[in-house]
Amino acid sequence: MQSVTKLRLVASPDERRMLFATMERYNAACNAISPVAYSEKQFSNISLQNRLYYQIRETFGLSAQMTQLAIRKVAGSYRSTQEAIREQNKVLAALGKPLKILTEIWFRKHGAICYDARVLSLGRNRVSIWTLDGRIKLRYSRPDYFPAVATVKQTDLIYRDGAFWLYATVETPDIEPAKPSEYLGVDLGVVNIATPSDGVTFSSDTTEKVRQRYGRHKGVLQKKGTKSAKRRLRTISGRERRFKTNTNHIISKRIVCAAQGTKRGIALEDLKGILLRTTVRHDQRERHHKWAFHQLRSFIEYKARRAGVLVQVINGAYTSQQCSACGFVHPDNRQTQAAFCCRACGHTENADLNAARNIAARAAVNRPIAVCSPDTRGEVESQACKEHGATHGIMPPTSIGGS
Ligand SMILES: [Zn+2]
Repeated sequence: MQSVTKLRLVASPDERRMLFATMERYNAACNAISPVAYSEKQFSNISLQNRLYYQIRETFGLSAQMTQLAIRKVAGSYRSTQEAIREQNKVLAALGKPLKILTEIWFRKHGAICYDARVLSLGRNRVSIWTLDGRIKLRYSRPDYFPAVATVKQTDLIYRDGAFWLYATVETPDIEPAKPSEYLGVDLGVVNIATPSDGVTFSSDTTEKVRQRYGRHKGVLQKKGTKSAKRRLRTISGRERRFKTNTNHIISKRIVCAAQGTKRGIALEDLKGILLRTTVRHDQRERHHKWAFHQLRSFIEYKARRAGVLVQVINGAYTSQQCSACGFVHPDNRQTQAAFCCRACGHTENADLNAARNIAARAAVNRPIAVCSPDTRGEVESQACKEHGATHGIMPPTSIGGS
């Protein structure tokens, strides 16, 4: 499977100068290639190379490979922009709105350099990278989620927030996950981002505070509306997004490690269970959480795949209303957001933890849930109708659990 890993480079002032100079020259070359590509509508690597290779190499004093990489960046940018416009236009045409057209692309002075293996090689702790002053070796910080066995496909050199980064596209071998007998159930939510069926709950307190702080700052800038305020707004939004992404990396890594270390699979609920619980508010907070939530889910899934941990998606209906001790299901079992108290057996527990245990149990045993005792059946059914309208009654037993 392919994934992108971000590595922060450690560069001295001298090395930074070399990297900036290389970036500027490379993007200047791109800006010389772009008008020709645009006016002649030539977006293939080979046709642009035949047309411009010697001219660009001579004018900008780039190595053979760097010249080719600049040509490839321009051609690739036009092709992907053209493809994106084509997709957008399908929607715009259906809505009867004016269509978008391809315009000439301009490359930023400090835009990314797309290196390949011939001009950049990634070692265990150092990277060897081509610059105008020859090859230089730089140290980089290796995040703990960087795969140990990986083949680097392509690496982009990026300048962002005052530092140089490598965005490495790595290919890691898939490990066939073994079928475990036990599962770590994970309840994903808004108040608690993730609650595993054992271990520590990841609360959203910190991320919510950060979101609010950024939110206030963004509000002020939005009111201002000047060009520089808009630029600042983009920077802040990017930072906030990266903070949240980083948090999700940490949480997903811990969950996958916990499952791997105990030779268990990971159980997540399907979207049905989540839709049953969440409200349909569309404010900023809700949208933000929804985005973060889907990201966390996808991180858990891909990290698990990389670690050879099986992910089982289970039917999520009533995981928050069911007692993890006796199996009794009733809406009144969940008294508040945080507290669970079983009306049948008196079992009390943190509500998210109770849900996580149910999720783990459902993945391990492929059997129907004891939805409720006959005398309360009608009550539960009507509750289901109120909450999600269309679905009546209980999910059929065949859709519970996995294969
Ligand atoms: Zn109970």
